[in-house]
Order: sequence, then C-alpha cells, then structure tokens
Amino acid sequence: MDADFAIVGGGIVGLSVALGLLDAGQSVVVLDGSDADPKASRGNFGLIWLQGKGVHEPRYARWSKESADLWPGFAANLKEASGVDVGLRQDGGLDLHFNDDSLADAVTEHEALQAELGADYPFEILSPETLSIEEPEIGPKVTSAILHHGDGHVDPLALITALSGAVVAQGGRIIGATSVSDIAARAGAEEGFRLTCADGAEIQAAKVVLAAGLGSAQLGPSLGFAAPLRPERGQILITEKLPPLIRRPSLIARQDRAGGIQIGATNEDVGMDRRVTLDGMAKLAAEAVDAYPVLARAQVLRAWGALRVMSPDGLPIYQESPTCPGAFLISCHSGVTLAAVHATSLPSWLLRRDYAPDLEVFGETRFAA
Ligand SMILES: Cc1cc2nc3c(=O)[nH]c(=O)nc-3n(C[C@H](O)[C@H](O)[C@H](O)COP(=O)(O)OP(=O)(O)OC[C@H]3O[C@@H](n4cnc5c(N)ncnc54)[C@H](O)[C@@H]3O)c2cc1C
Repeated sequence: MDADFAIVGGGIVGLSVALGLLDAGQSVVVLDGSDADPKASRGNFGLIWLQGKGVHEPRYARWSKESADLWPGFAANLKEASGVDVGLRQDGGLDLHFNDDSLADAVTEHEALQAELGADYPFEILSPETLSIEEPEIGPKVTSAILHHGDGHVDPLALITALSGAVVAQGGRIIGATSVSDIAARAGAEEGFRLTCADGAEIQAAKVVLAAGLGSAQLGPSLGFAAPLRPERGQILITEKLPPLIRRPSLIARQDRAGGIQIGATNEDVGMDRRVTLDGMAKLAAEAVDAYPVLARAQVLRAWGALRVMSPDGLPIYQESPTCPGAFLISCHSGVTLAAVHATSLPSWLLRRDYAPDLEVFGETRFAA
C-alpha cells in the first residue's frame, strides 16, 4: 500500500483535508491534475465569508462559523509548518446595500441565522454616517452596510503555497501533473483502492478522497457517487497597487496586502468557459465605482475568469460511497472559508471517530428526491 489515504485533487479542498489527515497520523499521497484543469483555488476572491451562508440550512451556517472561528489558529499553524504567511485579516466584512429593500431582505436573513445560532452570529447594521467613518472611500450611492465580525480575507495564492508546503513538511507526498483516469476498489481479499493515472502509473491506498473540484463529476460515478457538480464562472479584476483605501473587504472589492484592489466576481452559467468578457469586466468596474468612487481613477492591471464548483443547492457535499466504502467525495463552493474546518474537524469524519462532526445533511441522499 502506498498510503492510508490517496487524495485526488491538490486544490484548497484536497490539501486542507490532506493536512488534517497527516495531523491525525495518517499517511497521505495527493495526486493533482494538470495546469490545463480548471482550478478554482488559483482564481478565487480570497474571502472568509459567513454572511448569507446557511440561510436555508443552519447546519451550513454553523459549519462555516466553526471554520471562521478556527481560521486565526489555522493561519498561525500554516505559517509555522510552511513558513508562508497567508495574510489573514479577519476584523469583519461588509455587505454593501444600495437601497433599503435589499438591506431589509438581508437583515431578515441575518436575524433568522442569529436566532438559529444565538449570540454566536455577531453583526451590526451600519448607517451611512457610521459607514463614512469606518470606510471613508465608500460613496453616497451606498445607503447602508451590514458588518459581520467573523468575515475576513486571505491571499489565495499564498494559501495554496502554504498548504502545499505544510503537507510536505508533515510528511505528505504531492504528485503534480498527474491526472487520475480510473479508481477501482481492489478485488477479493485485497482491501483498498487502485488509482490509475493517465501516464499508466498506479497508486494503491487503503482509502480514497475525491476532492478533484469539477473533475470529481467525471470520476465520481465509477465509485457510486452522483457528484452532480457544475461550473459557475466568476470574473475578477485587479488594479494597480494603491495606498490603503479599503479597510474591510466587501463582496464587491477588497484590497490585498500589496495594495491591489480585487474587484469581483461575476456569477455566470457558461459551462467550462473560463474567458473574461468585456461585458463582465465593465459590469464589475461600474459596480465597484458606484461603491467606491475613488476607483474611477484606478488602473486595472489584469482580469481573469475561474470556475466555481457548484452543487445543485450550493451546499458542500460530504459523502462516503454507498457502493465502495472507504471512498469519500468532498466538494464545496467556499473552499477558502471552509479550509480551517476541513483541516481540523473533517478528518475525524473520514476516520469515523466517535467525536466526528455530524455531516448527514451534506450527504448525496438529499439529491435523490
Ligand atoms: C471566481 C471565484 C471566486 C471565489 N471566491 C471565493 C471566496 O471568496 N471565498 C471562498 O471561500 N471560496 C471562493 N471561491 C471558491 C473556492 O475557490 C473553491 O471552493 C475552492 O477553490 C475549491 O477547491 P477544490 O480543491 O475543490 O477545487 P479546485 O481548486 O478546482 O482543485 C481541483 C483540483 O483537482 C485536480 N483534478 C481534477 N481532476 C483530476 C484528476 N482526474 N486527477 C487528478 N487531479 C484532478 C485539478 O487539477 C485541480 O488542481 C471562489 C471561486 C471562484 C471561481
């Protein structure tokens, strides 16, 4: 056997889970596909974001909150293990509103979540006056904002570098540029799984975790998963480096630690098309200038498109295969937010420990109806 666990996919999800399994004393090999694959982990917005999460499924709100609470310790551990600072800033995030109706809807959602989570869901409604003190560059078109204290952001590329470094430092193996073409449960008295790679190489592991992002939709069915995952394109812009302008991130813009303002992201149903479009970029830029008028003078340096990994209801999927026990599917559309909980609590579920979190609501049976 090459490892206790083979993890297919070396994005944020696969690497976070790998790190947690290594911490739990398991041996781990991560197989990651080619540069040509869509990689949400390399094109995301970097938010740790709770607002709006779990409105229809409070378990998701609690799971996201648990992760956000774990993030400071997780970032410190990553730095210690890898030497990479992921640039965590977590002193709240702003949901900006341009009219009273949208604010009222958002407040109703927040109050429902607060009732569900109790005092563990701290948020404030900021009036225009308070907002102008807290965030002076926000313009007059923004009528109010919700400040959620658990929200924050990190540098997404530093996160991937830190996770890879920590996995290797803890004794994990990462094999890159290796597409897994087949996964089969080993026959007869043999236990575990045989993973065949596109170049013909084989890896044997006692258990397998499918964390291949959109690639899980192809590999999943042979292991008994439905894996109903679809792409959703998000376009993002980044400006030249600017002096400090934006203190707290919003869903419209955030200032990275080097000074660039990231503006994003669109939500588009365009299949596997990762290109940027003039319309998409213009829409993002216009909304950003509406929110932060100072950005009208900023130069956009780059734009890119990346594909979110979406389940039909937007919730994560945590499922052990009904036909191949020991094979697990893990997928989510907020892998930055959930990275801390994936590296900390999720491994106990993979190891079937008594104290494992209850993840029943995130199973695939919910799609059967
Ligand atoms: C525009 C955009 C903005 C986002 N913003 C945020 C945000 O602000 N906050 C947040 O929490 N989340 C955000 N996300 C979501 C977040 O990026 C994803 O949840 C996360 O990156 C998913 O990670 P993953 O590892 O599942 O998938 P990916 O990053 O796509 O990685 C999957 C990996 O699997 C590999 N692979 C695929 N098939 C195979 C195969 N057959 N064999 C071997 N390897 C394979 C690929 O090469 C790839 O490296 C955003 C996403 C997008 C697109």
